[in-house]
Amino acid sequence: MSVVVHHSAGRRPVDDDAAFETVRAIQRHHQDGKGWTDVAYNYLVTPSGRLLEGRGAEFQNGANTSQGRLSNRNTVSICLLGNFETGDVLTSTEKATVRSVCAHFGVPAVPHGALSATACPGVDVRDWLAAGMPVGGAFSSAAGPAGVAAAYGEARAAFVRLGKELGL
Ligand SMILES: [Zn+2]
Repeated sequence: MSVVVHHSAGRRPVDDDAAFETVRAIQRHHQDGKGWTDVAYNYLVTPSGRLLEGRGAEFQNGANTSQGRLSNRNTVSICLLGNFETGDVLTSTEKATVRSVCAHFGVPAVPHGALSATACPGVDVRDWLAAGMPVGGAFSSAAGPAGVAAAYGEARAAFVRLGKELGL
């Protein structure tokens, strides 16, 4: 199993409110436009590092590929909001959240492009994954598993708060 990392390839939200609106737009596109069960991604991450639930981890995602060793059947998909192929750059809090999701599931992260012929999740994210997902600032790999767990706790708490906000 792996966490497969995507980007939305759309406009970078300027704040959390814009990020929530972006996620709602993605949901409308996937659910109403394409007729899928829900957002294709299991999770999405805002530029501020908040973890948002897409279709959740209990449902098979629809974002990767149905072919090959790694497919929708045995992966969790996570989508970063922005276009990292054309100049957007990951924040340290986004990096910490992606690392925390990997730590939570105990699996590595791979770029979408490792499964399908796509530039997704963009050059900045691909380079970061290839470098071993280093995180600068207050959260770093030096913090070890406890740091990862603490960051996941924060991300989870943020998700629970958002769920209450949206009445989920
Ligand atoms: Zn993708």
